[in-house]
Amino acid sequence: MDATQDPMIRLDRVTKRYADGTVAVGELSMDVPRGALVVLVGPSGCGKTTTMKMVNRLIEPTSGHIYLDAEDVTHGDAVKLRRRMGYVIQQVGLFPHRTILDNVATVPELLGWDSKRRKARALELLELVGLDPGRFAKRYPHQLSGGQRQRVGIARALAADPPVLLMDEPFGAVDPIARDHLQSEFLRLQQEVRKTVLFVTHDIEEAVRLGDLIAVFSQGGQLEQYDTPATILGAPANGFVADFVGSDRGLKRMSVTGIDAADLEHPPVVHLDDELDVAAKRLRADGSRWAVVLDSNNQLHGWIGIDSTSASGLVRDAARRMEAWVPADATLKQAMAEMLQHDAGWVAVLDGDRYLGVLTPTTLYEALRRSIGADAVGIAPAEIVLDTVTTA
Ligand code: ADP
Repeated sequence: MDATQDPMIRLDRVTKRYADGTVAVGELSMDVPRGALVVLVGPSGCGKTTTMKMVNRLIEPTSGHIYLDAEDVTHGDAVKLRRRMGYVIQQVGLFPHRTILDNVATVPELLGWDSKRRKARALELLELVGLDPGRFAKRYPHQLSGGQRQRVGIARALAADPPVLLMDEPFGAVDPIARDHLQSEFLRLQQEVRKTVLFVTHDIEEAVRLGDLIAVFSQGGQLEQYDTPATILGAPANGFVADFVGSDRGLKRMSVTGIDAADLEHPPVVHLDDELDVAAKRLRADGSRWAVVLDSNNQLHGWIGIDSTSASGLVRDAARRMEAWVPADATLKQAMAEMLQHDAGWVAVLDGDRYLGVLTPTTLYEALRRSIGADAVGIAPAEIVLDTVTTA
């Protein structure tokens, strides 16, 4: 994303009034930065698809202007315009009697590329979207799963290397597991190709997972909020956005909030070859009940509790292995998941092999609160009283 340049797409007071008088989109203005993945999200019928189709002029705006790379493309040749934009839809619309290879090469063929160049490009793209060309190039669309067909759709949209990709509920028709897969594959792909992507979905989870920016629409193509996923979840602009993102937005926000060095706790650190009595002293000096144990290369080994330090010997004789760790660029959600998976009260944060510190449930919670200062209304865990049920 580069905000210092002209936006790749600019909508300037764009309106679509259908023949029956329905105003699907009213005076919408928004910029899509170059290289950003922008998700249009909102309830059914709020004008997302109309907005997207106005960008490639499958629907002509009633008024307003659309700019592509600073050029006014509101009028002029719509067919030429569409060649600058890959388009992926839910029902991929592959040609049933053409092989996968030929389907992917459709636009290069229209553009008059020679057959050798077309084929090379199509093979390269199949590889890029994770379909082994050796297995899939010669098949026909009906010989593929829904998820695989969707990948072909993406490969086809990218074939002529357009700067912009328009995607309308592209993963809407596949089962949840394939969908999850396609989403993560698509994020990986986008890292590589860095297109400017306009992506329509009604699913806030998908929007949060994929978007660099999210535009939340209400009926009539009204833009209620346009911001990063963390801000949309952490500081919804109004009641409509808050309702739309859901009451579990705090949980959702964990998946878009990274770990900050300031979030980490630093329990005492001891080494495998330290004497236990030395370790005990360190723990007592720190007032801590446990320490992180590193090996001689300063790599994470595990932990030791104060109760295990009373014997004589070395830390290595009493230390417990502990393998719950996340890389420093993980999200709070990944840290939480790691903690739960290992049934651990903490998770180590590593930069490569280097131990940086730990996160605990309390620090995770504080990190989440710190990530959005504006969203400070809530109850701290210390203020929550839990009724404990004891069985006789
Ligand atoms: P979304 O993609 O958010 O579900 P759409 O952009 O498809 O919404 O539709 C926005 C509004 O425009 C809806 O109220 C829909 O019924 C209306 N609409 C869509 N296409 C037409 C059309 N061809 N004629 C009249 N109204 C339409």
